[in-house]
Amino acid sequence: MRLDIISIFPEYFTPLDVSLIGKARERGTLDVRVHQLRDWTHDVHKTVDDTPYGGGPGMVMKPEVWGEAIDAVIGDGTPRMIVPTPSGRPFTQELAQELAEEPWLLFACGRYEGIDARVMAEYATRLRVDEVSIGDYVLAGGEVAVLVMVEAIGRLLPGVLGNAQSAVDDSFAPGSMRNLVEGPVYTKPPVWRGHEVPAVLMSGHHGKVARWRRDEALRRTVQNRPELAAALDPGTLDKHDRKLLEELSFRVEPEDMAN
Ligand code: SAM
Repeated sequence: MRLDIISIFPEYFTPLDVSLIGKARERGTLDVRVHQLRDWTHDVHKTVDDTPYGGGPGMVMKPEVWGEAIDAVIGDGTPRMIVPTPSGRPFTQELAQELAEEPWLLFACGRYEGIDARVMAEYATRLRVDEVSIGDYVLAGGEVAVLVMVEAIGRLLPGVLGNAQSAVDDSFAPGSMRNLVEGPVYTKPPVWRGHEVPAVLMSGHHGKVARWRRDEALRRTVQNRPELAAALDPGTLDKHDRKLLEELSFRVEPEDMAN
């Protein structure tokens, strides 16, 4: 997969040299190219922003410099373009999975009040352009958001995770973990400062371990993410799940319970 990232702070992306993503780059699974937006400016100050039309505080990133940069980076190619912005569609595991199947992604990192909207309109005529938010809070720039997305996407590429099964069991994974967060995990020793590992995990009984994990995932989802629990597909809930949800006093619509 090829990833191009355009930013006025290329130095933000040094974390992509290490760990899983760094190894994937070394192996050639990921081809990451980071570009300095200011390389496409023409004034001595390398200006990338200007005052907003309509007035108000802050600055807006200029369309001409973005246009020149994107044209130079993509040539005649057609990457999928991702523009991080708090006003975008939410970045989810499902979207990460979808993006992991693309051969080429282009990330355009905004700063200040964002990028002049005509840049997205212009490229949407020839590329698939997604404006994407990593959460309901406002960062100073798109760089950290892109790091988040690249890590989430990169670990889904074939061969990047040591054990591909770990992505299948993760929180939000498609299938049985859809709309669920993962429960607690434990390692050795069996007792630490008086805290014991749940006995079932040491029982060697795969069925019981799977059931316990599912129960804990449901319990945690109800506790920490009730909006996700409310969106559980009734068709994915078995009798045991429903009994547990009742015990947790989690209301599921009666018609859903009938399924
Ligand atoms: N005025 C914008 C608004 O209220 O929607 C916020 C601009 S923010 C200060 C500057 C840049 O940070 C954005 O253009 C975007 O690239 C990035 N950014 C900030 N929060 C983000 C988020 N939650 N998700 C993705 N990108 C974000």
